[in-house]
Amino acid sequence: MILSILKYGAPELRTVSKPVKSFGAELEKIAKNMIETMYSSPGVGLAAPQIGINIRLATIDLSVGEDADKLIVICNPEIIDSSGEQRCDEGCLSIPDFSETVVRPMKMTVRGLDLHGGEIQIEAEELLARCFSHEIDHLNGVLFVDRLSPLKRTLIRNKIKKLAKAGEW
Ligand SMILES: [Zn+2]
Repeated sequence: MILSILKYGAPELRTVSKPVKSFGAELEKIAKNMIETMYSSPGVGLAAPQIGINIRLATIDLSVGEDADKLIVICNPEIIDSSGEQRCDEGCLSIPDFSETVVRPMKMTVRGLDLHGGEIQIEAEELLARCFSHEIDHLNGVLFVDRLSPLKRTLIRNKIKKLAKAGEW
């Protein structure tokens, strides 16, 4: 089922999400809906708070459904090591039509659990490292605009306020 994605301003996007503790049919259903929603948007990543569920669950697929091997579903992801730096234009499905240059680690090791509670560890670099960093931020209530200069952040916030006032957000 394709769900609607919450936009900037929704309190769920500013909440620190809770760790996933129970694994089973309900979690699998949430993940399945997230994957469908991510593909239909289309996007390369989605975090559960973006569909209004504050649990530490994220889906990432750099191929956007083209290559089944690229799909990552991870619970309770943690960056256990990171190095380097990359600067790239970044957007977010919850902040549509805005993109800015964001600094992220170039490489990282991410540890987490799969949908059955089994441990997984992933070495990520470049775009995949950017995605993990972005999605894990979501689980902590952080959005990419928080990583911009105060000036840029204020400009975006004001534009969104205007759009909201006009009923276009
Ligand atoms: Zn996002």
